[in-house]
Amino acid sequence: MAGELILVVEDNQMNAKLLRDVLGSRGYEVAESTTAEEGLEITRSRNPALVLMDIQLPGMNGIEALRELKKDPSTQSIPVIAVTASVMPMERNEVLEAGFDGYQTKPISVKELMAEVRRLLDGGSEPEGGSR
Ligand code: MN
Repeated sequence: MAGELILVVEDNQMNAKLLRDVLGSRGYEVAESTTAEEGLEITRSRNPALVLMDIQLPGMNGIEALRELKKDPSTQSIPVIAVTASVMPMERNEVLEAGFDGYQTKPISVKELMAEVRRLLDGGSEPEGGSR
């Protein structure tokens, strides 16, 4: 569904531009932040439909930010996709166990990213209908 607000938290300019262009070209409204701290503020003030969260950020990292969002009743239902550079196996486990709703690795595959965005925003073309 076009027009929904997606927050991109990403400190790398090239990745931020890619995500902005891809999402914008498909009709989504895009908000951006280069730090987790600002990303948390924007999430609370603008209530995005989805957050794309870089893990490696200056200051607070994406996993810490995810934990903040998931313990706050006003933001815990917002799906969050981790976007991270190729990671060590232990770090990948940490990312998944932290409770992210999706996981994308850089370099971003536009096709895989958009499939995951649609899965989370359109809520279950899957037969089991959203059981997690
Ligand atoms: Mn980064």
